[in-house]
Amino acid sequence: MSEFPRPLTEKEKCYLVKALQKRKRPQKYLDQVDGLQVVGECGCGDPGCGSVYFQHYERGNSECIAHCFLEDGKYVAVFANGGKLSELEII
Ligand SMILES: [Zn+2]
Repeated sequence: MSEFPRPLTEKEKCYLVKALQKRKRPQKYLDQVDGLQVVGECGCGDPGCGSVYFQHYERGNSECIAHCFLEDGKYVAVFANGGKLSELEII
């Protein structure tokens, strides 16, 4: 089991940045990436699911701010809570 909070893995950071860069003005979100901590992981049990929650996550309080399909076939969606990055969904 992982210990929380923990920093993002290189892979998570890479997915997050790639999805954010699909936005028109990603800078205010990109500026937050280095300050993010992972406070939890999705418990759905699907081995293909790599979704993680950040310290700004609040249940039921997120909007999708970016999403895309990546070259490796993964679907990535980024959520924010009041302008703060809150969740990275990797499916
Ligand atoms: Zn999941």
